[in-house]
Amino acid sequence: MSYSQKHPNPRVIVIGAGIGGLMMGLLLGKAGITYQIFERSSHVRTLGALMSINANILPVFEQLGLMEEVENISLRNRWSGIYNSKMKQIAKIGMEDYKGCTGYDFLVFSRPEFCDVLLRQIPKDRISFNKRILKMRKCIDGTRIYCSDNSIYEGDIVIGADGAYSSVRHNMHKMMENDGLRILKDNSDMPMPYLCMVGTTNPLNPEKYPQLKDPLTHLHHVVGDAVFSWTVITIPRNRFCWSVMAQIKNQGEAKEQRFRNSEWGPEANNALIEQVKDFPITFGGTLGDMISATPKERVSKVMLEEKLFDTWHYGSVVLIGDGAMNAMQDAVVLVNCLYDLLDCSPESITAAFEDYKSQRYSHAKKQVAYSKLNAKVSSGQTFAERAIRHLVLNYIPASVKAKQFSKAAAYRPQIAFLPQIRDKGSIKSLPNRPSKRAMYEESIQRKRRAVAVYDSSEVSASTISFSEAGYTLGEKKCSTEIQYRPV
Ligand SMILES: Cc1cc2nc3c(=O)[nH]c(=O)nc-3n(C[C@H](O)[C@H](O)[C@H](O)COP(=O)(O)OP(=O)(O)OC[C@H]3O[C@@H](n4cnc5c(N)ncnc54)[C@H](O)[C@@H]3O)c2cc1C
Repeated sequence: MSYSQKHPNPRVIVIGAGIGGLMMGLLLGKAGITYQIFERSSHVRTLGALMSINANILPVFEQLGLMEEVENISLRNRWSGIYNSKMKQIAKIGMEDYKGCTGYDFLVFSRPEFCDVLLRQIPKDRISFNKRILKMRKCIDGTRIYCSDNSIYEGDIVIGADGAYSSVRHNMHKMMENDGLRILKDNSDMPMPYLCMVGTTNPLNPEKYPQLKDPLTHLHHVVGDAVFSWTVITIPRNRFCWSVMAQIKNQGEAKEQRFRNSEWGPEANNALIEQVKDFPITFGGTLGDMISATPKERVSKVMLEEKLFDTWHYGSVVLIGDGAMNAMQDAVVLVNCLYDLLDCSPESITAAFEDYKSQRYSHAKKQVAYSKLNAKVSSGQTFAERAIRHLVLNYIPASVKAKQFSKAAAYRPQIAFLPQIRDKGSIKSLPNRPSKRAMYEESIQRKRRAVAVYDSSEVSASTISFSEAGYTLGEKKCSTEIQYRPV
């Protein structure tokens, strides 16, 4: 089948208004695809602390014209310091010339403000709040979702952007089981649990904390002696984001914590605060000073786990996320595949989902492996993890690090149907696949323009032939850059 000028317009349901869901909505809007986001909370939750984005996603923000907005809420990062519990620096990680290499800054910000940037791009009536999705069922035209308020909706496509403990994933697995399919690989628990508490302070006095005056961020991570590690970082408007991670080595306790803290909830845990409040920080004072400067309702606590699931889609249901960078890159690649959808038949939808997974899987796998290693290096407390930290921080040759960095920085997916951003740094981007539909539409435009010129031309040419570069009108070669009258 080939493209026609009549495009399918699937009704897309997005579950979850976190970073993945908001990004997905924004992109679907750009693609002209009808969508509705369903979020279980009464609003987009303004919780969370430190997040960062870099060249792996910033070209997309440039395409969307949102660079300035993101820069306004961010500080640029050049280096992060790793310290031991005596506040002695044990490593400095980063790259002075990140921008020269990639064309972009490495930006850090507070999660709620980033969510706001995305939210502002989405028309208010495209998000339905207080809609917790409980179950899903296949129906003739796609999938039906059932919400906790007894409302039911139907979509040609359902996108699960509902976080690490996705109800959509759970329901998708059930649908597969009902159809006699087994999904063994995805049934295991997520390993490597850390209990994490985060917050963002109120504005503090820059005379007391002079690092707040610096336009570059100060990101300091401390590895404690037994269970804990903690990070404090400057963000715009004289504030700090902080986080404290406790490694849970006992699997029984991990399961119990997972049961109680699988969601990012507003929960300033007094017992945990008591344990960590006297930890020193490199900015002077203690972690307790940061916690005291944070309104209780803006402290949240969660179990941090990471796992790459093998089943990404079934029928008309597809998953994106979790992890901010992965969620946003997933959204970009998925919208590219949906933009190129030939029609709304189950075959075409499955083909689009397979295409999405084939483009994303290996990158997501690398990202998850990197995150796991990063967690071991920055927060692992077992003997083996301490050994890995020592090895990674002290013995990996600069040339190996540079090679790894170049590989990671080269992956910069873009929105295929918007004008592409050219490479600006010394590290070339991996090629981005152009949109078939956008190319088809461009060729139609070219033909129209050429016919328009032919119609108004004195040249008595009998043929017009087309190529990528332009067209030939009789003997005359023309480029498509010329302005023509509209047909
Ligand atoms: C409140 C909150 C605070 C966070 N704070 C941090 C942080 O400080 N640092 C950090 O690195 N990461 C944080 N994260 C995680 C981070 O935002 C995500 O891992 C990452 O952005 C990927 O986003 P996501 O959209 O896939 O998932 P999430 O950001 O987890 O969003 C999932 C959304 O789906 C909604 N949802 C879940 N189940 C249902 C359902 N059944 N029906 C309808 N809606 C549902 C949730 O309410 C949520 O809004 C936080 C996430 C949340 C939700």
